[in-house]
Amino acid sequence: MIGGGLGGWERGEWTDDTQMALCIAEEAATGHLDPRAVAGRFLDWYRSGPADVGAQTGAVLSRASAPGDVAPAAERYFSNNPHNSAGNGSLMRTAPVALACLGDDDALVGRAMEIAALTHADPVAGEACAIWCVAIDRAVRHGTGVLEGVREGTALLPAARRAYWGERIDEAVAGPPSSFAPNTFVVRAFQAALAAILHTPVPAEMPCRHLQAALQCAVSIGNDTDTVAAIAGAWLEQGGEPAPCPLNGPCSCTAGPAIRAGTSSAWPC
Ligand SMILES: [Mg+2]
Repeated sequence: MIGGGLGGWERGEWTDDTQMALCIAEEAATGHLDPRAVAGRFLDWYRSGPADVGAQTGAVLSRASAPGDVAPAAERYFSNNPHNSAGNGSLMRTAPVALACLGDDDALVGRAMEIAALTHADPVAGEACAIWCVAIDRAVRHGTGVLEGVREGTALLPAARRAYWGERIDEAVAGPPSSFAPNTFVVRAFQAALAAILHTPVPAEMPCRHLQAALQCAVSIGNDTDTVAAIAGAWLEQGGEPAPCPLNGPCSCTAGPAIRAGTSSAWPC
């Protein structure tokens, strides 16, 4: 992270994806992941004047004066923009929900949807978050590959929504990753991140570099690059095996078990 870019970022500074994820993580660290308290942290963050705020997130938070106003503001935004209320800003920050709810499918799905809906009331945004949280949960607890994980997440959705998500996942399996741009729509961002993981082969000599390679693939897809990388990275940090070695030091891993990332076919990104 060399700094610069569209936001004039400092070296090592992270963008809104991580900033909002930290709001959730810090609330989870209290031992009780209360959505209204998360809304309060979102408001505090927004009022701190961050360099980058997603358009939909900013529109919602600017219309809320107290934590209890946030979700209703998102509902009004959805009512007023029924075909343009499913940005990727909920999925980009959802990973700490998974870590706070490990092993509890009802909580995984319920909290993911509730916290998504604080700013993104379109149900498809909550569905994407729920599926991704289940995939992270399965990777953490069972070492499950990302493809199996998202399919397990889809199985927990209402029956009427499973075919839609099954088709979107199949599209990501078919690839190539580069086909998932633009990706500001939450479903396209989900597909871009999933495709980047699935279609980045595990380096034979240095399997610990899969995270790096998959993130480079995610970024190279283009459009909302930090967000697609944040989504992919949230799974890769938990699902990669072996763990990534430090990028600036010698690789100390041995060619251990391959990363259970799914398919190994390589697409040019
Ligand atoms: Mg972004």
